[in-house]
Amino acid sequence: MLRTKSVWSPINRKTDGLRILATRFRGRAMPTGRYDVWMPSLGPSERLLMAGQAGRISWAKFAAGYRAEMFMDGPIDSRSRSIKNHGQKFTLRLLKSLARNGHVTLMCHCAEDQDRCHRHLLRQLILSRRV
Ligand SMILES: [Zn+2]
Repeated sequence: MLRTKSVWSPINRKTDGLRILATRFRGRAMPTGRYDVWMPSLGPSERLLMAGQAGRISWAKFAAGYRAEMFMDGPIDSRSRSIKNHGQKFTLRLLKSLARNGHVTLMCHCAEDQDRCHRHLLRQLILSRRV
């Protein structure tokens, strides 16, 4: 089961499973007990995040940019001729497998009722055929 949640919502040890803080910034006031693992690599880049938060780009542009970033090649890819990392592709695949066999919760600082949060895009990506 793959869920999304605000990191500030009540913790449910039974149904949350592996609690992943999927944000670029951890937040100074964030107690480490609110998540099991912090994965900045699953958050939007600082540039994309700032552009989205400042309203310089539309939600559609933000969403497209985020999806692109999740599969963006890094310098390591130029060092391999055949099998590349393709950004977070294999991390997303791992999360898909973990969620198939247990509970995984993707979290962000945004409020629980915030529809326009990358955590929803991330969940869709993990459940998609792309990974
Ligand atoms: Zn968010």
